[in-house]
Parts: sequence; structure tokens; C-alpha cells
Amino acid sequence: MIIKSFAPSPLTTGLQALVNRLQPTHPQYHQLQQELKNKEAGDYGEQYVMKELQQIALLNDCYILHNVTLPSVLPMQIDILLIVPNAIILLEIKNIRGIVHFKNDPRQLIRTSDSGEVHVFTHPEVQLEQYMQGVKHFFNTQQVSIPIYGAVVFPFNNVNIHREDGRLPIIMAKELPIFLHKHLETSKETKTMADIKNIILSHLKHRTPFPLCTYYQIDASALQRGVYCENCGRFGMQKLKIGWHCQMCQHRCRDAHIQSLKDYYMLVGETITNRECRDFLMIESEHVAKRIVQKLQLPRNGSNKNSRYQLSGLLVNR
Ligand SMILES: [Zn+2]
Repeated sequence: MIIKSFAPSPLTTGLQALVNRLQPTHPQYHQLQQELKNKEAGDYGEQYVMKELQQIALLNDCYILHNVTLPSVLPMQIDILLIVPNAIILLEIKNIRGIVHFKNDPRQLIRTSDSGEVHVFTHPEVQLEQYMQGVKHFFNTQQVSIPIYGAVVFPFNNVNIHREDGRLPIIMAKELPIFLHKHLETSKETKTMADIKNIILSHLKHRTPFPLCTYYQIDASALQRGVYCENCGRFGMQKLKIGWHCQMCQHRCRDAHIQSLKDYYMLVGETITNRECRDFLMIESEHVAKRIVQKLQLPRNGSNKNSRYQLSGLLVNR
């Protein structure tokens, strides 16, 4: 059963906003656009494997979690974590197409795309070993000893894999039932799965790379300002008494500013002042800007003109 369901990675959502607000003439535009494509493909692969896992009857009583980060001295972002009787299984999903070569000494993943372009990636085995060590260390600190297994999973058959000998299994998504069966057969339950689940859920870390202008060293003044029209894809919707109006396509939307404030949070900063809000949403009236942030019930630090409104709440439960 799924206890932490699939959600697009914050970096994907942030990159979508960034690419949308950046002019195609910006020097980093094409690199960011490519990075966004890779991230979207990665998310798509993870979502697909989550769906496949849900179909596996063997896992009905086990726990499935998407995107897990636990306290660790090493960087950790586990694509999928499974809690099965007396074991934890980590899956590293790689949605890469083309010809991939797993090279040893040093370990690298080299991909040749259909057009002949060569890219070098971190070897997923190295990543996975690091996560397995991190999880093992985490459970040691919890005084829990549990076997940890891992596999690199390619979701689709659009890849031609060449591999020298390696340490961890590399499998296709369709092989997951066989792979899992092996681990579920040999395990003897010593610590209940519910205990493991509770330990993990109470220690989950939520890390985001925001604000992306800092992350990618982009001057925020390069971003297109204004409220985005979801109908025609232009910026600069006009504020009406109630809602927003696009002069280009006549589309009206009541809450169009919310996405723009989310963009601001993901790209520029965690908090916003009245002036920054007017500037980013391109509205003139101080009073209108005040009403917007007040209506959203954003937590406020400071008083009067120096008030800064906290935007982080916009990304959850809305
Ligand atoms: Zn429009």
C-alpha cells in the first residue's frame, strides 16, 4: 500500500516556472530547458514505477513511499522506498533513453542519444550505495538493525543497456515482481513493518532547492513580471475588482495571482513585501496588493511598510 504517494519533484515545478518566466534569449535558457526535460522524464519514470508497484499483489501488505529523504550525513533523495517484512528496499529510477554504458573504474554512466550526443552521468550504483549507507546509518542511530537492499530500475524499454560487472542489480520495471519475490521469500520478520514505517514517517525531511534564482545564479530582474494567463500563455493580466482579466485573449480568472506568488516563492524569495508584490504582479495600488496578501492569510513578519509576508504556505494544501 502506498503511504507516500507520487508528487512531482519541487525542482521540476520550480524549473517549469523558471523556464516560463525566462526570455529564450537568456544565456541559461537552453540549458535550463534541457534540465527541465530531464527532470520531467525522471518524474514520469518514477510515477510509472509507482503505478507498477501498486499492481503487484505481493506488496499489498507492504509500504511504498515516493521521494524519501532521511536525516543523513550524506546527501540523500531516494526515489522509491519499500518496507517489506524484515527488509527495506530502495529503488533508484533511471528514465534515460538511448544507449547507456555502465563503466567501471571509475564508475560512470555514459549515454549516447539517438542523435549521437554523448552525456556522462553519475553512476546510479554509486548514488544507490550512498543512499543505502545513509539509511543503514540512520537506522543504527534508531537502534534498529534491518537488511537494506537496492536496485536500479529502468522503467521503459527505450534504452539499450551495456554493463560490465557491477555490485547492485540493474533491472527493468517489468522484472520488479521477480526481484521483489526473491527478497520477500527469504525474509523472516523480526521488527514489525509498522514500527519501521513510523520511524521513517516521523523523520522525513522536506528539502527544496528554492529560490531557484539563487540556486542557478540568475538575476531576478531577468524574469518576466506580471500575472500569467493560463489561457494564452502571456504575462500581464489586469486586476479587476474581482479577479483578473487578460486583454489579449479576454480570459478571466479569479485566482490567477496565486500561481504568480508561488512563482515568486520558488524563484525569488520566501517572503514578499507590499512593494515587491506590486512590482512582481504589476499592480499599481498599494491597497490592492495589501488586500491580496491579507486575503491569502499569509503569515506576516514586521509591521507597516516593512511587513514581509511568508509565501511558503502557498505550496501546500492549496
Ligand atoms: Zn490570455
